[in-house]
Amino acid sequence: PATPAVLPELIQAALAAIDAHAEEVTELDRTLGDGDHVTNLQRGLRALLAQSDELAALDDWSQALQKMAMTIMSQIGGASGSLYATLFMTLAKQLKGKAMDLAAFAEAFEAGVEAMKQRGRSDVGEKTMLDTLVPVAAYLKRAAGEGKDLDQVLEEVKAVATEGMESTRDMLATKGRASYLGERARGIVDAGARTSQLMICTIADKLA
Ligand code: ADP
Ligand code: MG
Ligand code: MG
Repeated sequence: PATPAVLPELIQAALAAIDAHAEEVTELDRTLGDGDHVTNLQRGLRALLAQSDELAALDDWSQALQKMAMTIMSQIGGASGSLYATLFMTLAKQLKGKAMDLAAFAEAFEAGVEAMKQRGRSDVGEKTMLDTLVPVAAYLKRAAGEGKDLDQVLEEVKAVATEGMESTRDMLATKGRASYLGERARGIVDAGARTSQLMICTIADKLA
């Protein structure tokens, strides 16, 4: 979409998706982490929703994303808060002065995920949200390069996110609290990988 006017609808949808899966995800994070991931995200998304009219009224995406990064940083907390704040801060920086389209977003998103890797000192294969986000970033870049139709991208990106999330199931964790579990972490999907997949799929549906 050309302007941030779409944001209230997207934030609302993301929050609804997290709310609808709250129990399932909390169970995951209770097993692998400290069980607060859902409440962290809900707090952040509610704060974004509270400021969504203000966000929607902004002229450009860069300003809106910068504001969102600040809210995420102050409201979510934990590992996921600083990682998502890094993503949004990088998106804002990358999209400054640019029109929003698939190519610009794909490039910005790739830079954002790269910044998250550095911030978290982590990469794919470590049983985190990056296992969802890195393949999504690569897919978007490829799809934009091929000049794929947006509706096709919005459909295909959901499968990419879901496959990435599912890939965490059989991984051992090397980052965060789950790393202390060793072999016991196998067989359980990472909570952060699941919530990023849920939000990506919901947003793709809303934009289609
Ligand atoms: P905390 O772990 O501080 O309680 P959350 O529960 O909100 O924060 O978020 C946990 C999620 O954050 C994990 O499920 C994982 O996906 C992600 N995560 C944790 N540490 C890292 C890291 N170093 N790199 C990437 N993602 C991480
Ligand atoms: Mg936690
Ligand atoms: Mg915590």
